[in-house]
Amino acid sequence: MSIIAEKIEQVVRQIKQFCEDSQRKPDDVTLLAVSKTRSTDEIREAFHQGLHCFGENYVQEAVGKIVELSDLPIEWHFIGPLQSNKTRQVAESFAWVHSVDRLKIAQRLSEQRPSNLPALNVCLQVNIDDEQSKSGCHPDEALALARQIAELPHLRLRGLMAIPAPTDDAAKQHRAFKAVAELSEQLKRAGLPLDTLSMGMSSDLEAAIAEGSTLVRVGTALFGARPAKSVE
Ligand SMILES: *Cc1c(COP(=O)(O)O)cnc(C)c1O
Repeated sequence: MSIIAEKIEQVVRQIKQFCEDSQRKPDDVTLLAVSKTRSTDEIREAFHQGLHCFGENYVQEAVGKIVELSDLPIEWHFIGPLQSNKTRQVAESFAWVHSVDRLKIAQRLSEQRPSNLPALNVCLQVNIDDEQSKSGCHPDEALALARQIAELPHLRLRGLMAIPAPTDDAAKQHRAFKAVAELSEQLKRAGLPLDTLSMGMSSDLEAAIAEGSTLVRVGTALFGARPAKSVE
């Protein structure tokens, strides 16, 4: 069995276990394979081992890979910071965007979504507790922003995404994810039909699943450590 196959099996088994531990159904948690910096051969292999959703962070890198892998029915998710001059390529090439954190970006994605494609699925990224991070809207702005995004014709608002400040402290991980889940419940009570909580990465999967994640974004645990971050 190849290394990737073994790692996939291990992560899938972990997700199943964490779901059982928190009385959740394994089918309620989608595994998004984060393939930034990974080669198309690695993605191809992961696809043939059963993964069908892949997440990318850098537009240039992603678009090349998407073209090269267009023979496979992969669902592509954009999860990186998005500048307004790159929205067109994202609107044309991806099925999902997790990192929408301001109205201007959402408006451009909606305007630029090709009319022959289904609505672009989006998550509103919330900056739940990381004061260092410039990504994500403030939790207090989330409801108003979500309402505006939900009105855009070529987008489908699916839920919230968060990347809490990295910590090994499980209690802190739980607290951050719980805050995202509570914010999502608040938006749902306000009438927004959300079905996605995009939270949890290789190092905090257990806490994220326990607090209600429906989509975990996993890179390192599937593909190994990444080389130094590429620059766009
Ligand atoms: C890189 C990245 C991940 C994956 O992180 P790992 O720790 O490698 O699992 C998840 N989400 C986002 C937004 C990322 O940029």
